[in-house]
Amino acid sequence: MSQAIHQSCARCVMDTSDPEITFDENGVCNHCIEFETVTRKNWFPDEEGRARWAAIVEQIRIAGTGKEYDCILGLSGGVDSSFLAIKVHEWGLRPLVVHVDAGWNSELAVANIEALVKHCNYDLHTHVVDWEDMRDLHLAYLRAGVANQDVPQDHIFFASLYHFATSNGIRYILSGGNLATEGIFPRSWHGSAMDAINLKAIHSKYGERPLRQYKTISFFEYYVWYPFVKKMRTVRPLNYMLYDKAKALEELERTVGYKPYARKHGESLFTKLFQNYYLPQKFGYDKRKPHLSSLIVSGQMTRNEALEKLAEPLYEPDELEIDIAYFCKKLRISRAQFDELIKTPIHHHTDFPTWDGRYRLLKRAQDIFARITGRQIRVYS
Ligand SMILES: [Zn+2]
Repeated sequence: MSQAIHQSCARCVMDTSDPEITFDENGVCNHCIEFETVTRKNWFPDEEGRARWAAIVEQIRIAGTGKEYDCILGLSGGVDSSFLAIKVHEWGLRPLVVHVDAGWNSELAVANIEALVKHCNYDLHTHVVDWEDMRDLHLAYLRAGVANQDVPQDHIFFASLYHFATSNGIRYILSGGNLATEGIFPRSWHGSAMDAINLKAIHSKYGERPLRQYKTISFFEYYVWYPFVKKMRTVRPLNYMLYDKAKALEELERTVGYKPYARKHGESLFTKLFQNYYLPQKFGYDKRKPHLSSLIVSGQMTRNEALEKLAEPLYEPDELEIDIAYFCKKLRISRAQFDELIKTPIHHHTDFPTWDGRYRLLKRAQDIFARITGRQIRVYS
């Protein structure tokens, strides 16, 4: 599958490995067009962004008056959240810094987090996820053969942030998510990591034991309770500045002695193996393509530079064997079991119950509400 010849976009490096891709008469793909016509409206890498962000910082300060923390920051050790951590320090905000340890931190990630926390003088709260829960979820997802194996890790990351925020009376969640490096992503590749109904359905079908401590976030909590009752807001500060990943990394190296990872997502050994081996092998999805395409449309890279990057191997053979051996040891499975799990039949996440129906109902309710009251409510995402 990964060997197939794909038609590629004339502007970015997305191709027909995204089954829903379309091209216009100039050979430019729907992702590039959507970036220019829709995404760009929410991206402010300019003076306007500076002013908008200053106003949001002021709101965060006011909301946090008299409280120990004014915002919450999830720190994974990756470049985006690490860069955000030093910026938050420069803006004079007082974040509760949370690291969710799902068991896959590389040594380098731990060292980077320590260096950042020391430099910014933050208190770090580490939430260690119950490993037996994580293990059972990982194995369930592998047996299910769905594309997004990152869900168990991503869901607990966001759920922990929300739970920490509410228990500390914090209204603002700062996210390192950004359009400059993630503006392009094919919808068909993944379902939402927030969909707890999907997660529980996959786990109840393929898991071997009930989850003990793994906390999910429900549809009601995510779309109603947190945004409307608790008035919580997720903000993405990197969308209000000229966020250039290479320059961000340089600044991190210079100011805190941050050490770069050899591969994207080198902060999590799970995500590294999943993105560089499982997805390309099993689904033909190379996540470098949307990432590099995002860098092209946001002006950080040329198409030729991206093509050179794509020509590099996803893994060196020795490195892959070391990572698979570690993975098997950690999940307490044999190499033969690992190979079997990689070969399970492919399922789409919608082969299992999802919260999409509830989402459509909520959208409809919001449209009716807007028509009656004249007030627009934006669906939270
Ligand atoms: Zn394109």
